[in-house]
Amino acid sequence: MKLHILRCGSMRVSPAVPYGNQISLGGSLRELLEPEQNRVELPVLCFLIEHPRGPILVDTGWCREISPAGVYDPKAAAAVLPRHLAAFYRPSLPAGEAIHEQLAGLGLKPEELAAVLLTHLDPDHVAGLRHLEGAMRIILPEDEYFWACRTVYKARQPWSLWMDFPMERPYYRASPLGPNHWAIDVFGDESLLLVNVPGHTDGQAAVLIRDGGRFVLLAADAAFSPRNWREEISPGFGFDRQRQLASLRWLREMAEDPACAGVFCSHDPALKPGTLVF
Ligand SMILES: [Zn+2]
Repeated sequence: MKLHILRCGSMRVSPAVPYGNQISLGGSLRELLEPEQNRVELPVLCFLIEHPRGPILVDTGWCREISPAGVYDPKAAAAVLPRHLAAFYRPSLPAGEAIHEQLAGLGLKPEELAAVLLTHLDPDHVAGLRHLEGAMRIILPEDEYFWACRTVYKARQPWSLWMDFPMERPYYRASPLGPNHWAIDVFGDESLLLVNVPGHTDGQAAVLIRDGGRFVLLAADAAFSPRNWREEISPGFGFDRQRQLASLRWLREMAEDPACAGVFCSHDPALKPGTLVF
């Protein structure tokens, strides 16, 4: 199987976002107000799986409107995102990196995707949905949707970016996989699973891709790089640190499995765009 790593823009965030190792009001304020010179540039990565059932896209990155000239544009960002999120993310999307531009480069139209999987509803993962008109199946765990619709997640996951897109919303079911023992078997053949990795959000999914005896795991934002699970440092941007740590321990277990061909995070600066065959 083949996995394409696509860079759909970047964000300039506080170093506490990937490695804050705590969740607190002070931590959240720091993440929001961090001065520019202290911020770190992290990529916003999406993944395209060449699966026997067809091409599967995981997440959608930023949208063109958020960064019309390809650089951070506070006014444009604040027209797409609530002002506090624009200030938190400082998003940019260079020409050619929006998801529809990336797909066109691979010779793919949105309607040719077998499915679009959403790991969670944070804006850097769903803003590009507007560029995927015609996509046949958009799949999001119901458990992510439920909390995003009803709770404080509303401040972090603006409805305008995703609410109007028709989605399939399967529930997680009992599974031997994941820290929560919850997973969704997308095709019913265990080749592609959404595994609940809570902590960053309650319903967040990692994506497990299996081919023969090998597997690749896309960790979404359960970790920002392998450093999180190697050193047990939890990302700062999250809701439940104990659950974050449990998810990190599971990621480490999976990374150490001899059948593992890679565990990839959505914002790891060491992960370069390219194609992996496994
Ligand atoms: Zn993210």
